[in-house]
Amino acid sequence: MDAERDVMDVDVLFVGGGIASLSGALHLSNLIKAHNSKGEGKKLDEVMIAILEKGAYPGAHGISGAIMDPGAFKELIPDFLEKGAPLEGEVKKESIYFLTKNFKFKSPITPPPLNNHGNYVISMSRMNQWMAGIVEENGVNIFAGFSGTEILYDDNDRVIGVRTGDKGIDAKGDRKSNYEPGIDLHAKITVFGEGSRGNLTKGLIDHFSLDKDRIPPGFELGVKEVWEIKEGKIQPGEVIHTMGYPLKSNTFGGGFIYGMKNNMVCLGHLTSLDYADPFIDPHREFQKFKLHPMISELLKDGKLVQYGAKTAPVGGFFSVPKMSFPGGLIIGDSANLFNSQKIKGINIVMRSGMLAAQTIFECLINNDFSVAKLSGYEKTMAGCKEVKDLYKVRNFHQAMTRGLYFGMTISGMQWILGGSVIGERLSADPDHSHMKKPMDIYGTDAPSDEAIGDIKYDGKLTFDKETDVYYSGTTHEEAQPAHLKIKDLDICYTKCAENYHNPCVRFCPASVYEIEIDEATGKKTMKLNFSNCVHCKTCDVKDPYENITWVPPEGGGGPKYTMM
Ligand SMILES: Cc1cc2nc3c(=O)[nH]c(=O)nc-3n(C[C@H](O)[C@H](O)[C@H](O)COP(=O)(O)OP(=O)(O)OC[C@H]3O[C@@H](n4cnc5c(N)ncnc54)[C@H](O)[C@@H]3O)c2cc1C
Repeated sequence: MDAERDVMDVDVLFVGGGIASLSGALHLSNLIKAHNSKGEGKKLDEVMIAILEKGAYPGAHGISGAIMDPGAFKELIPDFLEKGAPLEGEVKKESIYFLTKNFKFKSPITPPPLNNHGNYVISMSRMNQWMAGIVEENGVNIFAGFSGTEILYDDNDRVIGVRTGDKGIDAKGDRKSNYEPGIDLHAKITVFGEGSRGNLTKGLIDHFSLDKDRIPPGFELGVKEVWEIKEGKIQPGEVIHTMGYPLKSNTFGGGFIYGMKNNMVCLGHLTSLDYADPFIDPHREFQKFKLHPMISELLKDGKLVQYGAKTAPVGGFFSVPKMSFPGGLIIGDSANLFNSQKIKGINIVMRSGMLAAQTIFECLINNDFSVAKLSGYEKTMAGCKEVKDLYKVRNFHQAMTRGLYFGMTISGMQWILGGSVIGERLSADPDHSHMKKPMDIYGTDAPSDEAIGDIKYDGKLTFDKETDVYYSGTTHEEAQPAHLKIKDLDICYTKCAENYHNPCVRFCPASVYEIEIDEATGKKTMKLNFSNCVHCKTCDVKDPYENITWVPPEGGGGPKYTMM
């Protein structure tokens, strides 16, 4: 039986409360305030702007590196220092190392894309929480703890808002005593800022074929920890990037170590999800990264404080979909706006939020919400510095998928020549299609633990996934349907097991997927520990049979990040 649902009308709805949406909502409310205070033209009275966020509070699901290029931030909040923006430190010292298992080689120069002088080290979750306060002071409504689960279209195929998820549904799909139907949020303009691999955005892109003529998006999984370490080992704002160990040269990725205030340091490791080896486990790669003498020495006598993981969209310029459609716009990581050569998304996603706000403001002033008016956003985006910079490195990710050394050569040439090396556009295949059989990689179908690179976790420097998940603060209501939807379990037990040994067990950084084998019968069962899920979306990207779809769980579930 269909539930009676409340309908709530707002003028502008941002789906997802990350930095892109917060910047958009803040800029829009500032533009409206400035317009109304000028007293020229018709006043924009009581424009209702709302942000929907699935995390329990703004910033709960905010995780990044993070070095922030403050270009857009300074324009948006010029008095950010007086307002007490949570900055961990200005970057004044940075270094790059190439690592082998036991040695390090310091790069004599910092390549221009990785020059971070003048940027700031921040914690994304803290920054989001702080910005949310400013946004709310400006009159924007933030509905935290509610997931958008369905896009609402009118009879003319125009997006008119989203439906939020029902609460109080048990594991079998039946209503519990605390059942609350989700509500329909209707808006004149709906802005999708759901971050990397947004689940509604994915459907939206398909619905309007917004990715026609684009290359498939590519992703990296970042696994990160924050540690408290002994005083004086690293300064707030100090930046170290690494390449090489623990990854082999056929897998792209690298490590980062950023100094924070109060003897805290954050460190993480990115693994490109176009890898071929089904035995790769990005969480384990990160743990191995910490075993390198340079890093184990830094962390010696320290303690783990927080853990998290998330994908970053690295496909680049050619993977950016059309960002306007009837009824709305796409901003931020949901539009794959990420400069993977610089390892930066924050500045460009803030810019996208602000330019979306500019277009929305013009729509409101002219009372014109047509597709033609909305597409103004794409035009201003095409002209902004951040997108022009993205264009200059348009083949970076595709080159890197062809191997580290080839990629570095091509990207160096690209940098010098302004982007076009080996043609205007290198092709790309979706990440899930890169997986190879063990035989093709190891010459055997059952490689040893040593060949795979397995390690033992000591619980002091290296942690297993369950322990790490505990440090992410992740919780979910247990009595609800699993939010990881496996289309065909037979594929897991047959093709996927035979060809790839169920790589979901390894690529998930939160131990959500477990294959249990009955000792007596040998029968396999997939156990879904969905309450461990840190919402990174790797399974949605990397399953070789595209057999897993990530949908949001009951609102408020997931990590509770405070310093990621
Ligand atoms: C490991 C890692 C390191 C990085 N390092 C850097 C760096 O050093 N410098 C840099 O500039 N960039 C870095 N980035 C990229 C940067 O963090 C992102 O580009 C930026 O945070 C994206 O912001 P966003 O608002 O688009 O998305 P997000 O920050 O992902 O925010 C999206 C929000 O939407 C919410 N949401 C999603 N779906 C729904 C739904 N259906 N209903 C309700 N809410 C929903 C999510 O909970 C989330 O809070 C890094 C990224 C990663 C993963």
